[in-house]
Amino acid sequence: MTGLLLDWYDAHRRFLPWREDPTPYHVWVSEIMLQQTRVDTVIPYYERFMKELPDVRTLAEVPEERLLKLWEGLGYYSRVRNMQKAAIQIMQDHNGVIPSDPARLEKLSGIGAYTAAAIASIAYQVRIPSVDGNLLRVYARLAAYREDIRTAAAKKLAENAFLSVLPKDRPGDMNQALMDIGATICLPNGAPLCNDCPFAGFCETKKKGLQDEIPKAREKSEKLVDHKTVFLILADDLVLLHRRDRKGLLAGLYEFPNTEGTLKKEEAVRYCSSFGFDVSDIKPAGPARHVFSHRIWEMTGYEVRILNSIPPVLPEGYLFVPIRTLIDEIAIPAAFFAYSRLIIPVLSE
Ligand code: SF4
Repeated sequence: MTGLLLDWYDAHRRFLPWREDPTPYHVWVSEIMLQQTRVDTVIPYYERFMKELPDVRTLAEVPEERLLKLWEGLGYYSRVRNMQKAAIQIMQDHNGVIPSDPARLEKLSGIGAYTAAAIASIAYQVRIPSVDGNLLRVYARLAAYREDIRTAAAKKLAENAFLSVLPKDRPGDMNQALMDIGATICLPNGAPLCNDCPFAGFCETKKKGLQDEIPKAREKSEKLVDHKTVFLILADDLVLLHRRDRKGLLAGLYEFPNTEGTLKKEEAVRYCSSFGFDVSDIKPAGPARHVFSHRIWEMTGYEVRILNSIPPVLPEGYLFVPIRTLIDEIAIPAAFFAYSRLIIPVLSE
């Protein structure tokens, strides 16, 4: 099976920028970016990130606001904050060298068992399987495993199975071959492409025709729906921002001021007046929807012009910034992209 899969990998592997020079740093950054994010989305982010932060030292030293700006739109910002914490740990405790031992890697901030195994096997050729959701699905189908694959028991079975076929000389390529099978052949949604699969000859699920039943479907939990009203409050070339709480969803990020509920125009004017603003114009900025992992924001927006009489004291956490500064330097969560797009034309007015 090993030779078959490596031959398949040599012929069909995906060409990805981090694979062309798989240093520990490149593997690490790419694996963190790829968590919950599609490869096509990650590539331009990865290239921009490497241009500006080419090594552990630059990552450890970059100001947080700049780091968040490089991550803007990728979501799950704790990932990049943890990456910077880990870079500082590596500089302080490992002389700037990313460890090769998976157990030491797992002690670094934000690095779990899967990422540690990916770094160790791909960059250092350590013989360890890197099992994530994709590989669990491939395992379940190969073995016609009918139980829930999101359990520790299933993970252990998959790790043992893949470890037994990892070669000494190319464990990283074997892991990447399995990742590619999971991403491009043994698909998570829709029918797997069994006719193109190197495992087709010995896959139990294919043999038994159980592709629709394995892996066992997850019971979907209902997402909470929040209704919000978002405000683009503009005073000449300034826009009002609010910094979110340091804990919880989108922790510590800047956002456009918003409030619970779907406000009518008069209510929206009252909301702005509560800051002490003198509203000169208000118009709808349209609805928007953002889906998080456990909740959905249904938003409605208003673009508001205020007379150039900004009150000297704003409530804590609120501040006006030049629109140009927002565009160039401040990371706004993707949930607000439908509204941040609207202020770019304001600059050319
Ligand atoms: S043969 Fe089909 S079901 Fe089995 S591993 Fe390959 S793609 Fe998945």
